[in-house]
Amino acid sequence: MPTRFASSDELTPADAVQAPLRTLPRPSALAERVRLKGPPGKALAALGIETVGDLVEHLPHSHRDRRELRRVAELAIGEEATVAVAVSGVTVRPMRDRRRKRVEARVADESGPMVAVWFNQPWLANQLGDGATVLLHGKLRRAGEFWVTEHELFSAGAANGGAPVHTVGLVPVHPATEGISAARLRSLIWERYRAIFDVTEPLPGRLRARERLADRAACLAAAHFPDREEDERDARRRLAFEELLVLQLALASRRRARREGRRARALAARGVIVDRWLWSLPFELTGDQRRTIGDVDHDIGREHPMQRLLMGEVGSGKTVVALAAMLRAVENGGQAALMAPTETLAEQHHRTLDELLPGPLPVELLTGSTPAARRRDLLGRLADGQLGLVVGTHALIEPVVDFRSLDVVVVDEQHRFGVRQRAALDAKAPPGLAPHALHMTATPIPRTLSLTAYGDLDATVLRELPSGRRPVETYVVDGARARARAYERIREEIAKGRQCFVVCPLVEESEALQATAATAEYERLRETEFEHQRVELIHGQMPSKRKGAAMKAFARGEADVLVATSVVEVGIDVPNASVMLIEAAERYGLSQLHQLRGRVGRGEHPSICILFGDPKLPRLEAMARERDGFRLAEIDLELRGAGDVLGTRQHGLPEFRVARLPEDTELLVRARDRADEILLADPALELLEHVLLRDAVLERFGSEHDPIPA
Ligand code: ADP
Ligand code: MG
Repeated sequence: MPTRFASSDELTPADAVQAPLRTLPRPSALAERVRLKGPPGKALAALGIETVGDLVEHLPHSHRDRRELRRVAELAIGEEATVAVAVSGVTVRPMRDRRRKRVEARVADESGPMVAVWFNQPWLANQLGDGATVLLHGKLRRAGEFWVTEHELFSAGAANGGAPVHTVGLVPVHPATEGISAARLRSLIWERYRAIFDVTEPLPGRLRARERLADRAACLAAAHFPDREEDERDARRRLAFEELLVLQLALASRRRARREGRRARALAARGVIVDRWLWSLPFELTGDQRRTIGDVDHDIGREHPMQRLLMGEVGSGKTVVALAAMLRAVENGGQAALMAPTETLAEQHHRTLDELLPGPLPVELLTGSTPAARRRDLLGRLADGQLGLVVGTHALIEPVVDFRSLDVVVVDEQHRFGVRQRAALDAKAPPGLAPHALHMTATPIPRTLSLTAYGDLDATVLRELPSGRRPVETYVVDGARARARAYERIREEIAKGRQCFVVCPLVEESEALQATAATAEYERLRETEFEHQRVELIHGQMPSKRKGAAMKAFARGEADVLVATSVVEVGIDVPNASVMLIEAAERYGLSQLHQLRGRVGRGEHPSICILFGDPKLPRLEAMARERDGFRLAEIDLELRGAGDVLGTRQHGLPEFRVARLPEDTELLVRARDRADEILLADPALELLEHVLLRDAVLERFGSEHDPIPA
């Protein structure tokens, strides 16, 4: 039981090797490696802790309030408390099962005696010598009997002069993991407490004075081992502000570099193609579409490359906006490309564009499965400029693909592409020029998060759904009767000629398990509820040919029910489908549920979404109530915190160590304003007072993004 500080022989000075040099030379105390043997060593590595510097940056997620020392006579039964007592006699007794032992110590303070009890730790008998003074944390189990959960010896000569750290005060609880306990981490950090004061201060004095921020070292110390709650809170805010400022500096300089570093061809609004095409559309543009097309026209009419993010849920009509921009390129004698993350999506876009386009203008599809002859022809027409519009996958960024004058690029589901892939597409523009870029996403991201994830893009939102799009009635149901009723309802829809999706439970542990479950459900439905209907199956483990065939059959109306895992991708368009049934809906995130629901209600038919799950779950309740994807994203953020909203990685959101969103939104906005001011005065952070700040940006965001041109 790691009740005392980790013994110092686990970390010998001889073990301390120089950590790889970072941007700054680090004081040796921070560069020293933290080495533990066995599972704790592995656990430290898993937590990303290699050096003392990493250790002191490993902040607690909470503190336990153990500030009040109680007197033995005042203890109430069942209540957790800490007491300071002297030991007078220790015995080890077998427990009832005769195998395990319990240690009993007679202890007392000036108010009276009691017996302190530990289970299963017979070796304690030797540590708790007569006359020792100990701090005990635990509970009075019955009168005179105290069960101990943590204890500390008071003794001169121990590390840190024997100051207690586990049982009294505001006791930090650090994120731990299998192999290392929070108590062990606490000891490790406490032993290296003094190293905290070697950390560098990246924030310039002027900024700290203005924002009234204490210095970094003092804040780190207070974040771990605060004397008062308000010290901890202020310390955390200061560290969060720094973290957000560093992020905003990186984003703002990227934005500047994009804007000012490169030139694009200005595309004039000539009217000949785009205006005529807009008139020819079989529907009225929504107000949002009209406004966004106006914004885009303004952007691409300038010599700075457009960097615009277009957010809008599935069916909000992003493709029309994208096509307007693409046609503007053609109108000016240039070319445009739309890149999607999967073949299915690329095909879908190709079909939509083809339908939306005026007769004579060709748009071609380039993916990994484009036949060789066709591909050769297509590449030739792209290189000599005959072909103005192309839709494709990663195949578009292969080195053999050459454009005569690529002026506009559209990237769909842009978070699914890496920085390098987007850069490779940009590089297809004529030498010295950058294309105008429109990034699209169907994943609504609340404003607070878009500031952190896409702070380097101008953002537009399509909120208004095209008229004629019907809201999807959503029901959350539970229990056998409701289930039977749901299947009946689906059979009624099918009888009316409609189709239905059945989405199987999410199994995060393994795609294979999920595929097995989906197959079983498919077999079950085919033999029971839908024995007279045509049922198809699609899951992630199927060869892509079979997946494609199942999808096509469903899209052509040759199947009534499609049993699917969550692979029913964003962008699948089957207007005749009017029911979305989701099994074990509680396993899905709100945004995922909303995306799935967006698969229906795309045609002229009233549609429903049935969620099997507990109707009282706040998440599912929100689904039934809210239609607006952005509102749902905000609710999701409130319910789950930023870290979990669909997985930060996937959405290009940075992982925060200190900052918490949405709680820290106000700090985020302030950090952004300060970052803008700093860069306005010193765009490359070259002034002496900004050098350490620049190091912090590079250390955190590295050179991959080249946040600041070196
Ligand atoms: P998104 O890409 O945002 O999912 P799309 O642009 O693919 O949406 O549009 C979905 C469907 O709605 C397409 O068939 C498109 O032709 C149609 N559509 C787009 N804008 C409108 C509108 N203003 N009114 C009616 N239908 C529209
Ligand atoms: Mg679309």
